[in-house]
Amino acid sequence: MYALELEKIKKAFDGHEVLASIDLKVEQGDFVVIVGPSGCGKSTLLRIIAGLEEHTEGHLRIHGELMDTVPPSKRGIGMVFQSYALYPHLSVADNMSLALKREGLPKAEIAQRIVTAAGMLALEPLLQRRPSQLSGGQRQRVAIGRAIVRQPKLFLFDEPLSNLDAELRVNTRLEIAQLHRTLGGTMIYVTHDQTEAMTLADKIVVMNGGHVQQVGHPRELYNDPVNLFVAGFIGSPKMNFIGGAAARAEGSATLGIRPEHLVLTDNAPRWRGVVRHLEYLGSDSFLFINSDADVELCVRVVGSAGPAIGDTVGLSPLPGKLLCFDANGTRLRGDKAADIKPLPRTVVVG
Ligand code: ADP
Ligand code: MG
Repeated sequence: MYALELEKIKKAFDGHEVLASIDLKVEQGDFVVIVGPSGCGKSTLLRIIAGLEEHTEGHLRIHGELMDTVPPSKRGIGMVFQSYALYPHLSVADNMSLALKREGLPKAEIAQRIVTAAGMLALEPLLQRRPSQLSGGQRQRVAIGRAIVRQPKLFLFDEPLSNLDAELRVNTRLEIAQLHRTLGGTMIYVTHDQTEAMTLADKIVVMNGGHVQQVGHPRELYNDPVNLFVAGFIGSPKMNFIGGAAARAEGSATLGIRPEHLVLTDNAPRWRGVVRHLEYLGSDSFLFINSDADVELCVRVVGSAGPAIGDTVGLSPLPGKLLCFDANGTRLRGDKAADIKPLPRTVVVG
């Protein structure tokens, strides 16, 4: 039995299709991150799972039970939004206990759950404060606490870190990961941030334009993307794309190579170019090279080793690391990709 099962879920607003036909199976205890650009339908999908939005077609099951017409409060979900959505006139403790009181849980049980959740989230000293007396990070922890005390079958997070500053985002990300280990619950987490997706997920669902592009472990999406969209979306700095190659059977093709899979070499390099820009990050540096591949190529070098701006360099891909995509963006593999040749070049940079 799956914790969550989506079967051909479709959604249209006024006849305009927003979700195409979403199939997804989530195992109990998994941390699933749905990632994709703004407007691709992530929040709509999460709201459908929560019952806050009706789907146009398809079926939705939570722990095997059909949920298509079950109201949100009966679905056993705990949801955390980007905007914390706390009641300003209630204390932290009252914000966290409100839903439990409505459910008619005994007072002692409510108190016990609040203490436990507050302990996990380091909220004990803040329980009597109002939301306005808290920082953004603390408010978001309260919103998470409010979901935890309900002991939901499914946690749903919609971009919960987007309103936090960079440092707090990293800290809260770690806390959410630890919380998942502690609680062992099933979590569905929506973000447009591929770094968040890579660091949190057991399984990433990449969406674009209302379609699921690929589902897999972060490593799988990074190393083995099924199409150009996934290859370009996952990874930072982005994969380099070089157009104008020819594939044996497929006509024109695009080559893809990640910055760390390009090496500087003078020995029969595949491409040559001039270093135009350099980003030194301490542990490594990224060189941006105006190349005779007709695109700027980004190369990672370890530490600060390597050439300076203005230097001419040669570049080759590491063996087996060059990916190939057909004119529709679909990844070509095996035989089809084996025969990729760059088209004859006309530009010489030096
Ligand atoms: P995401 O969360 O990935 O940024 P959303 O799910 O919020 O995307 O939105 C997906 C698409 O659906 C967008 O084009 C958005 O404008 C549209 N949309 C969302 N909610 C509504 C609504 N209530 N009425 C009409 N269109 C909507
Ligand atoms: Mg959204």
